[in-house]
Amino acid sequence: MPYESELARSLQPYVAGEQPKNRRFIKLNTNENPYLPSPRVAEALAGKAESLRLYPDMEATALREAIAQTVGLTPEQVFCGNGSDEVLAFAFAAFFAGKALTAPDITYSFYPVYAQLFGVDYHTVPLKEDFTVDVDGLLRGAPVVLANPNAPTGIRLPLAEIRRLAAHCREQGEILLVDEAYAAFSPENAAGLLAETDNLLIVRTFSKSHALAGMRVGYALGHPRLIDAMRRVRDSFNSYPLDRLAQAAAEAAILDTEYTARRTAQIIDARDRTRQALTEAGIEVLPSATNFLLVRGDETDAAPVQRALREEGILVRHFASERLRPWLRVTIGTAEEMETVTRALIRIIKG
Ligand code: PMP
Repeated sequence: MPYESELARSLQPYVAGEQPKNRRFIKLNTNENPYLPSPRVAEALAGKAESLRLYPDMEATALREAIAQTVGLTPEQVFCGNGSDEVLAFAFAAFFAGKALTAPDITYSFYPVYAQLFGVDYHTVPLKEDFTVDVDGLLRGAPVVLANPNAPTGIRLPLAEIRRLAAHCREQGEILLVDEAYAAFSPENAAGLLAETDNLLIVRTFSKSHALAGMRVGYALGHPRLIDAMRRVRDSFNSYPLDRLAQAAAEAAILDTEYTARRTAQIIDARDRTRQALTEAGIEVLPSATNFLLVRGDETDAAPVQRALREEGILVRHFASERLRPWLRVTIGTAEEMETVTRALIRIIKG
């Protein structure tokens, strides 16, 4: 007799990239930020241990105010959670459970996992030949979820297309969920559209742009009614998803806009130089508005290239699905790390 539920038995969980323990790598496999968080984070955390006796502010009031101020919204339009993964999970429960959901076939691979967990009928629309999102294809269903810029392609959909998708979902009485995990590295984002429409939910993370992957903080932006629905789900699961340290760290990080802008510019610069160097060496690289590049490692399967890099102490991500198999996803590290990985990629791929 199995003890676990039918659901637990049937789940196909998300598989995250490797977090090595015994060896130092140039770690470009999970889209972390190569730089330290803002020095204000350490200052904000100092002396916080004594406060841990008490439960945290379940509404993360100060953090939500800081986010609202930075984005130009009100705190009622902001929801915070334990990493954007949790925020996405709450959104799936709040807006998609029991419904049919449409998404691109190649996108963040956690979406189908949440779909299974929350009883969502998950429909996919193939990316176009050039790996861009097929907006007309997505317009056949509602609600819709997509990452913009998309992962793991790195390609950004123009804002006009996000507006078109939101309008279509609104006609169907559904929301559009846009995962902006990487929007800090993109020339545009969808926050401005929140003034025009009440059915857009934007999810973001502190993991990439604010170098806080280890702290687990994500947030959603949307109409207060959508935020209320998220809160109802949260309070049916865990009223305190963000601890005191996480709230303090994220607040300090988002208010240090000057530091974030400087680090983000460094990452964008390293990204664009890397893409140019690889392209000049005859290696195909998709255009990216993120902190990673999708690099063609082989005609058919880049797994051997990934292994060769690993032996040289460089970790990158490889996806085994059919269309992604020839590619490697390379997170943007420091300028120096990118010079090393560029040399290694050219040597291994071009022999
Ligand atoms: N969305 C996308 C598209 C991602 O790539 C990631 C990172 N794996 C996340 C969400 C989750 O980020 P986190 O939970 O660290 O906020």
